[in-house]
Amino acid sequence: MTIAIYPGSFDPVTKGHLDIIIRSSKIMDHLIVAVLENPRKVASYNIEKRVEMLKLVTEPYPNVEVDYYKGLLIDYAEQKKIDIIVKGLRAISDFEFEFQMALVNQKLNPAIETLFMMTNSKYSYLSSSIVKEIAALGGDISSLVPPEVHDIIIEIYK
Ligand code: ADP
Repeated sequence: MTIAIYPGSFDPVTKGHLDIIIRSSKIMDHLIVAVLENPRKVASYNIEKRVEMLKLVTEPYPNVEVDYYKGLLIDYAEQKKIDIIVKGLRAISDFEFEFQMALVNQKLNPAIETLFMMTNSKYSYLSSSIVKEIAALGGDISSLVPPEVHDIIIEIYK
């Protein structure tokens, strides 16, 4: 049984994230989407909201679980007996940071592999920050985020 983790801020979840979740859940036996609680990064949505949004959009996928963690990803991964870390890659600009993280995690625990999944070209420009910028300026984000979470996302800009 292959257990994978897809970690991120998901502040908030976008259609780009959901695409990676759906595609990787088809390859893995079990996928844990884990929201990182990062005390150094100020989030727009609190951890409960981010988890709630992910639960809403992953409801149709029975092998997908949503959780959150604090601290080192590798510690959480060991505790959950995870085999694979899934990361999405949008552009060359994602590569350098993700490459470094993958090598560090490999050093910390060589038994846990990092797998990169290429973005769907439809979503290669999409990030949580872009969604927030458009929403803050009153723009229409309905093509960028899953419909189940649209209203929750725009709530903070009303
Ligand atoms: P963001 O950079 O949008 O704030 P996160 O920190 O929540 O995203 O990202 C979690 C993971 O999802 C990372 O591996 C990131 O590269 C990936 N990801 C984010 N947006 C997309 C997208 N549009 N297509 C593919 N992967 C993505």
